[in-house]
Amino acid sequence: MAETVKYLLDESDIPTHWYNLLPDLPSPPPPPLHPGTGQPVGPDDLAPLFPMALIQQEVTTESRVEIPEAVRDVYRLWRPTPLIRARRFEEALGTPARIYYKYEGVSPAGSHKPNTSVPQAYYNAAEGVDRLTTETGAGQWGTALAFACALFDVDCEVWQVRASYDQKPYRRAMMEVFGATVHPSPSDITEAGRKILADSPDSPGSLGIAISEAVEVAAGDPNTRYCLGSVLNHVLMHQTVIGEEALEQLALAGDTPDLIVGCMGGGSNFAGLSFPFIREKLAGNIDPTIRGVEPAACPTVTRGVYTYDFGDTAGMTPLLKMHTLGHDFVPDPIHAGGLRYHGMSPIISHLCETGVMEAVAKRQTECFEAGVLFARTEGIVPAPEPTHALAVTVDEARRCAETGEEKVILTAMCGHGLLDLSAYEKFLAGEVVDYEYPQARIDEALTRLPNPDL
Ligand SMILES: *Cc1c(COP(=O)(O)O)cnc(C)c1O
Repeated sequence: MAETVKYLLDESDIPTHWYNLLPDLPSPPPPPLHPGTGQPVGPDDLAPLFPMALIQQEVTTESRVEIPEAVRDVYRLWRPTPLIRARRFEEALGTPARIYYKYEGVSPAGSHKPNTSVPQAYYNAAEGVDRLTTETGAGQWGTALAFACALFDVDCEVWQVRASYDQKPYRRAMMEVFGATVHPSPSDITEAGRKILADSPDSPGSLGIAISEAVEVAAGDPNTRYCLGSVLNHVLMHQTVIGEEALEQLALAGDTPDLIVGCMGGGSNFAGLSFPFIREKLAGNIDPTIRGVEPAACPTVTRGVYTYDFGDTAGMTPLLKMHTLGHDFVPDPIHAGGLRYHGMSPIISHLCETGVMEAVAKRQTECFEAGVLFARTEGIVPAPEPTHALAVTVDEARRCAETGEEKVILTAMCGHGLLDLSAYEKFLAGEVVDYEYPQARIDEALTRLPNPDL
């Protein structure tokens, strides 16, 4: 009989709780600060932007938070997601390593993002919010929130980074099919957008700018709240359904991971996969290396500084202690739009600073090569973002081929690339170039940190 490659769970195995890593850490990450007072932000500071249930989740000290039945019921549309042994990919690499991928591309948006958009829309609807605003880079988060808002009957307004608005008309169409209104960012309907347009009318936009616009509109209307698709503690927590399932599935496969690898934009998909394994690692049960991968063109952890910075360009959010390239940093237009964020989740940054996990950077051509090999062997065209994790997986698998080591590698396949085919088309035509972010531009952006002494 052929070897099993696909590890499936039943609907009844969908986790009943999200996992909050914070109480299990030896030391907590530094708190968010109010930019005016320099004091830790309290619930009241956040209330204009987020519903109380999510504010509580942001600061909870419980390690397990129950998933509402209405949310689990929506998760049933695509969860549990498969864990697949990439046997043909292994064979093509000639490696004795065993490579598994946890595939989130089966969700309605084609990525991990609905794991958090659904509870975010649910809690907002439960507190009577009429409209949600948000930003989107690659279009994945906007699509996920538009879908969730359609289910809970909430209006959805999305600021899509200009470069992606122009390059990805199908993402915009998908958001509109789900009922959302989509604006290119920078737009002329917010003060933050108008200010950027006055300085640079051809601005390709950035996630930081789009966040400023969505936050401004939410802060100005009592019936509107704002949603973030990554970075914040509650978002990372919602994503832990990925890792909880993967723990069970790897146990079914009879393997324990030696290396867990995933791409990092704001850190949510990789946190979702890795945090339940980090819990087991901190408890001394397993000892995998946890390696996050970012683009060389937006090297937040590997080349940024660890300090307090704004989450957005206009400086409207609380100050977060994180690795940052500076809040007005505009990255080169790499195809992995979801990885073009100037900051990083404060929890991930803290884990990197304390040595619980590590970060590396990869150039996009190498990532596309790995993505194409994966497509030709496993049949899934990965989104450009997770090809960053695949590039590291390939390196490690080749190293194992040399040493004969039978490493178990678990990689986060956080989305498919069926709406990114134009990027693959460019790659196959030899038109994809690498960007190495010049140190001078990083140094320059870092001169505008709100308070470098924090
Ligand atoms: C949004 C997105 C990312 C980056 O965000 P994280 O919070 O780091 O996960 C990566 N991959 C895909 C497919 C995305 O949609």
